[in-house]
Amino acid sequence: MRNYKGSCHCGAIAYSFNTELAPDDWSIRACQCSFCLAHCALSTSDPRGALRFTALCNENLQRYRFGLGTADFLLCKECGVYIGAYIATDSGAWGIINTRTLVAKLKHLSAQSPMDYDNENTQSRIARREQRWTPAIITDQA
Ligand SMILES: [Zn+2]
Repeated sequence: MRNYKGSCHCGAIAYSFNTELAPDDWSIRACQCSFCLAHCALSTSDPRGALRFTALCNENLQRYRFGLGTADFLLCKECGVYIGAYIATDSGAWGIINTRTLVAKLKHLSAQSPMDYDNENTQSRIARREQRWTPAIITDQA
């Protein structure tokens, strides 16, 4: 597995993303919802990878819910940067990263697919995330 790190601007919240996929093979999704557009977010995940979000202290981590309210969108309370999203269900927990916040600036980010999930209901949205997002945990310490 290769390891990719990312963080918010001030470094208070971060993530570690493990995947066997080379960056050129990542699926880069440009969600067209108003939140992701406002952040210019470009998301990726790997169902066979592993993702860990960390916060230097829990007070730095803002969990924002909107729309159907099924996932936590993770923002830094200090600098405001959106680093990724997290969902916990009866079957487990998964996440995506906002590839804009990767430490390594990867060239592939221009190869993005616009995505529109407006037609999903709560059930289908959760099911998609369980299949497509990366198994994930959130911990307090880096
Ligand atoms: Zn920050």
